[in-house]
Amino acid sequence: MLGLMQDRPLALPHVFHRAEQLFGHRRLITAETSGERVTTVADWAVRVRRLATVLDSLGLSADARVGTFCWNTDRHLELYLAAPCTGRVLHTLNIRLFPEQLVYIVNHAEDEVVFVDRSLLPLLWPLVDKFETVRHIVVIDDGADHEIPSDPRVRDYEELLAAAEPFAGRFTVEEENSAAAMCYTSGTTGNPKGVVYSHRSAVLHSLITLTSDAFALSERDVVLPIVPMFHANAWGIPYGALLAGAELVFPGPNMTPEAIVGQLERHRVTVTGGVPTIWMGVRPLLADHDLSSLRAIICGGSAVPRSLSEAYREAIGIPMLHAWGMTETSPIASVSSRRSHQEAWSEDERADARARQGQPVPFVDLRIADPESGEELPWDDRATGELQAAGPWIAKEYYRGEGGGTQFTQDGWLRTGDVASVDKWGFVRLVDRTKDLVKSGGEWISSVDLENEIMAHPAVAEAAVIAIPHEKWTERPLACVVVKPGQSLTAEELIEFLTPRVAKWWLPDAVEFIDEVPKTSVGKFSKKTLRDKFAGYTLPS
Ligand code: ADP
Repeated sequence: MLGLMQDRPLALPHVFHRAEQLFGHRRLITAETSGERVTTVADWAVRVRRLATVLDSLGLSADARVGTFCWNTDRHLELYLAAPCTGRVLHTLNIRLFPEQLVYIVNHAEDEVVFVDRSLLPLLWPLVDKFETVRHIVVIDDGADHEIPSDPRVRDYEELLAAAEPFAGRFTVEEENSAAAMCYTSGTTGNPKGVVYSHRSAVLHSLITLTSDAFALSERDVVLPIVPMFHANAWGIPYGALLAGAELVFPGPNMTPEAIVGQLERHRVTVTGGVPTIWMGVRPLLADHDLSSLRAIICGGSAVPRSLSEAYREAIGIPMLHAWGMTETSPIASVSSRRSHQEAWSEDERADARARQGQPVPFVDLRIADPESGEELPWDDRATGELQAAGPWIAKEYYRGEGGGTQFTQDGWLRTGDVASVDKWGFVRLVDRTKDLVKSGGEWISSVDLENEIMAHPAVAEAAVIAIPHEKWTERPLACVVVKPGQSLTAEELIEFLTPRVAKWWLPDAVEFIDEVPKTSVGKFSKKTLRDKFAGYTLPS
């Protein structure tokens, strides 16, 4: 017997029409090269309708990939809705990728048009002749003064919008499993791989961002996504905020710690999100700003150091809200929000729990498995294995079958490439990425745990641990450490500090002091760059 409920597609047009109908008065604030632009959801919605007409008038195919090469802005949010609501596929391009990777991705996805912020034009324009399928480059003027090439492919965003009638009526997408957006993994190994989100997955994922044990986005929130809109759709925050009716504040090209903290304070932001390196940069400024409006600082993308989270709790009263996910998981898969079993715990124990990646959100199933046998391992907080994920917003394959089936199990779960243990409450503790583990004498050293301990030293600004080949032990850890300005630290002092905190055999064999930990295109520690830098490094015997 079938249920007798209406079968309506879970699709992004609902997110648009809901925002337009109910939340027209809510504001969207965007930092520009100079100053800020304030608009309303009502005005934004008219522009989305105009943009829908523009996409048709450009002659794009019915499921054209619409590339964006943009900062976090209200204009980018126009594209976020106009592309999928007209059946096209939003393809957010990472503005920090190497040129060859960008060319590869644009050609692989077969983008027909790329929308680009004027301030980013110098990065994109030199590559345009290598784009095989791109017919239009639409420049969004963000106040930068970069010259706009005179070329028949180049169009002006505002001119196109001004000439277009707003699409009238309701957008419809009948097939909820049709593609809405795509995003390439950053390709730390091999070529980047395309992850294709469906309307259904985007809608369900947005709903999750509204649930109270996840981000609890609500109409009363003012949300500032610092995580780029090209990094796994800014963790689902833009769609979630629109669905909830929250106000959005966008940093645009102004990504300095001063600019970020200024926006947080000025607009009384309640929820924000970014990778740990962002919050490491903002941390020294906390004392001089009133951030009392904040209720959640979502942090993930790489492990959130306990010391960082605690520094925020001490300075402004709230720790980080630690979340784990991947481009392949849309990305929200687990969130470390407070649970009833922690009520009686000391602040110290809770801080330990917050350093974990948290409990799977509803509809995401997680398991840990022995990487060789595939056998599922118990949730006893001791057994460590490969973390695998399944759920309605988890990828089942890559675009055009890239990467083969190796990243998926026989029974269709995603193999994350992360190693984790899980406690009896289902709280994940991510030990490391498989490729970052230090394999010493048949045992593993977690580079994440070791970095956490090193970064707990008051003189350390940031630290990354990499494996160096070792004749006897296979690999041994090298600590690459950045000392805070005006402070001093020797290798001996650091080892002395670490000795009571980690097992003896975990102590780094060497400490190198560096000026900065190199970062990936999405602001994570780039272990690959460090490994290249220290290739051939000789450890003291
Ligand atoms: P990339 O592979 O380019 O870093 P993703 O953003 O998709 O792109 O990265 C996903 C990976 O980031 C995860 O597999 C995991 O290794 C790491 N990661 C994400 N969130 C966390 C977290 N909270 N703690 C530790 N690692 C994390």
